[in-house]
Amino acid sequence: MSQNPIIDTHTHLCDPTFDTDRAEVLERAQKIGITKIISVSENSVDARKNLELAQQFPIFKPAAGLFPTNLDLNSAQELIDFIRDTKDKWIAIGEVGLDFWAVQDEKDREIQKEIFGQFVDLAIKLKLPLNVHSRSASRQVIELLLKKGARKVQLHAFDGRASSAAPAVEAGYYFSVPPSTARSAQKQKLFKQIPLANMLVETDSPMLGAVPNERNEPANILISIDEIARIKQLPADIIRQVVYENTLKLYSKKILE
Ligand SMILES: [Zn+2]
Repeated sequence: MSQNPIIDTHTHLCDPTFDTDRAEVLERAQKIGITKIISVSENSVDARKNLELAQQFPIFKPAAGLFPTNLDLNSAQELIDFIRDTKDKWIAIGEVGLDFWAVQDEKDREIQKEIFGQFVDLAIKLKLPLNVHSRSASRQVIELLLKKGARKVQLHAFDGRASSAAPAVEAGYYFSVPPSTARSAQKQKLFKQIPLANMLVETDSPMLGAVPNERNEPANILISIDEIARIKQLPADIIRQVVYENTLKLYSKKILE
C-alpha cells in the first residue's frame, strides 16, 4: 500500500544552522515521504532568504511574518509593505502571534497585540492562512483571531489547555503537532482532546525536537505522526492520510505547486 505524502507545516529551515547541510537535510526529509515544507520567517531577513531558498529548492513553501518578540512598529510596517508587494510568493503569514512568556510588560504586550492584529488584517486581505505562535497567551491569541474574523488559521505548538483551545476547534482552526509532544505531558493531554480533523504535523526545525537541545529536522516528523497515532489509538497510515487532507484544506492545492 502506498502511503500518503507528508507536509511539514512549520519549520525555520532558513535558520543559519542549516546553511552547511541544507541539501542533505532536505534529502532525508524526502526519503521519508515529505513533499513540501513550510519555512516561516521571523523578520524581513528571513523572509528574503526563504524566497531565495524557494527558488533553489522546490520543496520549500515560504511564509513571511514577524516573530512576536519583535516590538518595533516600523519593522512591522516595512515587512507588511514588502509582503504586499510580493504577495503571490507566500503560502502563509507567519510566524506571527503573541508571546506573553517572553514579553511581560503590559505596555509591550499592547504593542505586541497591535502588531499581531496588523498581520491578521493583512492575512485576511491577502486571503492567506496564518501560521501562529502563542506562548502563555493562548486565550488572547484565539480571542484576537476570532474578533478579527480570521478563518484560515494554524496554531503552532499550542501551549494552552483544551478548554482554551475549544473556541478555536469550533472555528475550524488547526493545531500542528511537533515531535516534542513525545516529551510533553501538556501537549499529550491537549492533543487527546483536539479532534483529528483539526490536526496538522510540524517539526519547528531546528527547535522542538523529541530530544531537548538537539537540532531538529523535518525527517523527525514521523515522531509527530507516531505520537498522534498513539494518542488517538489509530494506525499511523490513517493519521498520515488525515493530516495530509487537513493540510490541503487549510493551505489549498496551492501548497502542491
Ligand atoms: Zn517556529
